[in-house]
Amino acid sequence: MKRIKYELLKKTGDEKTFEDEYKAIFDKKLPDKEKEWTTWKNTNDPTVTLKESIEELLTADFHHLVGFYKRFRDLKVPETQKDKNGKDVKSDEFEKLEEIFNYTNGYDVKIADFFVQWAEKLEIRSCYYCEMAYVNTYTLIDKDNGNLVERRQFDLDHFLPKGKCPCVGLSLYNFVPSCQVCNSRIKLDNMPDVEYDEYEYISPTSVNAKFDENITVRLRLRPTGQYLLAGRYIYLKAQRPYRQYVDFFRLNERYSFHRSEAERLKNLKDRYPKSNIRKIAKLLGYREKVVKEDIFNLHFLKEKGRCFEKFTRDLLEE
Ligand SMILES: [Zn+2]
Repeated sequence: MKRIKYELLKKTGDEKTFEDEYKAIFDKKLPDKEKEWTTWKNTNDPTVTLKESIEELLTADFHHLVGFYKRFRDLKVPETQKDKNGKDVKSDEFEKLEEIFNYTNGYDVKIADFFVQWAEKLEIRSCYYCEMAYVNTYTLIDKDNGNLVERRQFDLDHFLPKGKCPCVGLSLYNFVPSCQVCNSRIKLDNMPDVEYDEYEYISPTSVNAKFDENITVRLRLRPTGQYLLAGRYIYLKAQRPYRQYVDFFRLNERYSFHRSEAERLKNLKDRYPKSNIRKIAKLLGYREKVVKEDIFNLHFLKEKGRCFEKFTRDLLEE
């Protein structure tokens, strides 16, 4: 429900280092891989719609990746074939691609380490899809040599599923640090039900994603006769393609568990209107801004990348 803030790297002048360090992971193997990729294309892409080299795909921006993904899907490379017993197995074409762009049991650990190293600068804090779980790193002391080692408490999801297009399996701007529920229970190789062109509005890796402006968390009343209070529910207001995003990640349902927190925020807001904050500030000799922050924590949640930041802000602002 939020974009990865790559612009933070621009601010610190780290943009190029970020990409260079990423490419360095593949350096030695790249020439061989490019050869295999060219061979694959010569066989399976006779009209040359896939012009990109692997090197280009490694750091292509998300807009470019979507274009590539669409062209690849349009090629309709068979994903499965029959084995000698008539059973569906992965096709040779797909298997070869997975071998060239070998993420699983290949580069996954190195790529994860790369994200751990950059987690602080990118301010990776809470799941980019749901904002309900922390995705952080932590430090351990290695028992053998006493060195500090960084570990991660997050998954790396491929926004464009590598199961449907192995060629985007190593693309830097296809990786979304996310919680396990979003990555391995919900998303897997599935996608929200939208057009290819709409992917770049709902991928946290895309500069065109604007979740904040297009999704609003609300506490609503279900008209259930006299038991109105019992009928309160969380609703994430959104329009296409954000609606599809919210539905896909089951955000209404998952956020519903936190209805009591939403009610607490509503009551807090009712109890402390501006006039009361002014009175408290006057009484204690604090600035109004300080009192407001002490009560609502909004600045703290945003600044420190806490979970439920948007949830809290939207409900307090309603
Ligand atoms: Zn999540």
